[in-house]
Amino acid sequence: MRKKAPDWSIAESAETYGIREWGNQYFDISAKGEVVVHLRDGNKTKAVSIPDIVRGMKERGMQLPVLIRFGDLLRWRIEELNEGFATAIREAAYRGKYRGVYPIKVNQQQEVIEEVTKYGRKYHYGLEAGSKPELIAALAYMQDPEAYIVCNGYKDEEFIDLALYARKMGIQVLMVLEMPSELDLILERSKKLGIEPALGVRIRLTTESAGHWSESGGEKSVFGLNISQVMAAVDKLRDCGMLHCLRMLHYHQGSQIPSIRAIRNAAVEGARVYVGLVQEGAKMGILDLGGGLAISYDGLKSGSEGSSDYGTKEYCADVIEAISEVTDEAGVEHPDIITESGRAVVAYYSVLVINVLDINRYEASGIKRLPKKPPALLKNIFDLRAKALGNGANPSREYIQEIYNDAVYYREKIRSEFNSGKITLRQRSMGEELYWEILTWVSSKMQEAGHTSDQMDRLEAVKTDYYYGNFSVFQSLPDSWAIDQLFPVMPIHRLGEKPTRPVVLSDITCDSDGKMDRFIHSQDIHSTLPLHDIKIEGEDYMLGIFLVGAYQETLGDLHNLLGDTNVVSVRIEGGRLKYTRELEGDTVSEVLTYVEYEPKELIRRFRVLAEEAVVKKHISARERFEIMEAYEEGLRGYTYFES
Ligand SMILES: *Cc1c(COP(=O)(O)O)cnc(C)c1O
Repeated sequence: MRKKAPDWSIAESAETYGIREWGNQYFDISAKGEVVVHLRDGNKTKAVSIPDIVRGMKERGMQLPVLIRFGDLLRWRIEELNEGFATAIREAAYRGKYRGVYPIKVNQQQEVIEEVTKYGRKYHYGLEAGSKPELIAALAYMQDPEAYIVCNGYKDEEFIDLALYARKMGIQVLMVLEMPSELDLILERSKKLGIEPALGVRIRLTTESAGHWSESGGEKSVFGLNISQVMAAVDKLRDCGMLHCLRMLHYHQGSQIPSIRAIRNAAVEGARVYVGLVQEGAKMGILDLGGGLAISYDGLKSGSEGSSDYGTKEYCADVIEAISEVTDEAGVEHPDIITESGRAVVAYYSVLVINVLDINRYEASGIKRLPKKPPALLKNIFDLRAKALGNGANPSREYIQEIYNDAVYYREKIRSEFNSGKITLRQRSMGEELYWEILTWVSSKMQEAGHTSDQMDRLEAVKTDYYYGNFSVFQSLPDSWAIDQLFPVMPIHRLGEKPTRPVVLSDITCDSDGKMDRFIHSQDIHSTLPLHDIKIEGEDYMLGIFLVGAYQETLGDLHNLLGDTNVVSVRIEGGRLKYTRELEGDTVSEVLTYVEYEPKELIRRFRVLAEEAVVKKHISARERFEIMEAYEEGLRGYTYFES
């Protein structure tokens, strides 16, 4: 039986992990102590237990790790954004429309594009394509003549031709000039095909933005035209009588802009340039603000990188207000607004669920006595432990500090004497054990004495457990590794129990970077995450890694040849949970094929090895059969730990 700690409540779990802050009301904790997701059930919402989803999935034979997608959350995000603009437009008596586009690169999976276009239909929500393959996908899914397809990125002849043909068929494709030289090619193809383009021009803003991606939008950006290049393009278009084709001004500040002030300043600058282009005689009509709408991964609303000091409503209201102020002052018609919010639309959509496979922790075995004639140092640290543990009551702070200093000193000495050959391996091992035992004592006494979190943090590192999660950071959370992005992580069950272990989460790659050691909990960023002890036979300890719907799926790679995880999509139908789509993760044979192995050839080569072993009588023919079976079974299996 698992013992319940009575001094812990679900509310405390909610507070510790911050789920009510970053969860945006989509995620919460049930009375049973399980993480629930709110899904649509007819006209109501229903709280569905994520562990239940996983149990059902396991019964159907699917293993962890799994990425669970919630189409309802995507739908709510699209609604929130579009309704946010509708409200802002109404309240400000703004005369333009909002026509957002979803940038495909943020999550290109077919299911995502299908759902975005389905749920976005009533808002004429369009797509943004940054490359030829994305445009090709977009044209198959976006067939609403009132929605836009915005084409960014470098464009070759094929890309341009496709965009022009689509226009001829009645789809509103906007081609954005990202660099001056593109204009000539577009004009040439347009003339040749006899189709007029709808053009946008991307400018580099001079307004400073904060956040990780701030350089991707500003003056240092590799994309976009500076003001003189914009003027040159305008002159060229005017010279060939095509200035009416210039319909849109576009800018993109970069992703995850945490501060509303930066968003607003950019909108003002963008609107000023827009007004200038109207005054130059361009037809215009559309202002595209790009992406950047941030979400709060840490739930803190702080304006730091992983945060956001504003919500969707405020974003919509502020940009509408900024744009109307500038255009009203200049006496220019209010433009239609496009935004290209990606992260804010898809981040909540998927959750990665992993199981903990093993833990690595130091537990003192309690050395009773020393061998005969111990080295002096070992004797010293042995006595130090007796002194510390023998003084249980209420040691003073100075006393604890003294014990700590001595323990550190003796351990250093033991290590250096070991290196110079004066202490044996077994003696050193005893010394280390005694050291850990003393530190555990120090740490618990410090805690009782209520010491500052700074001191505790240092000792926390001493007590840290390593939990091995069944996942690969490189495959499933590439931004955690590459740019230190924070993702909320928490257990999805046992939340009525107090989490007592400070944990660093390691993945199953053998790379030392394959770990997570920055977490949001207790309203701050810490190097460990409090988790429960796991010693329950037969039950997986499961963690959810949340808000992974944006950018993570296809940016991930095959480090250590760990492949795509299983994916399930769920929703409620007729009051019951339904698994609407299941995608099996990569098999070993598939990932090997990606790196140019041929599974048949692998089997052939391995068989040669096995047959030689039979000839040399290392194994029997029967054993060869079994070994070959195991090898082939391995090829067919999941790349993650299977149980
Ligand atoms: C990546 C990108 C976006 C999406 O940005 P988010 O911050 O995810 O909203 C939008 N527009 C362009 C041009 C982009 O490159």
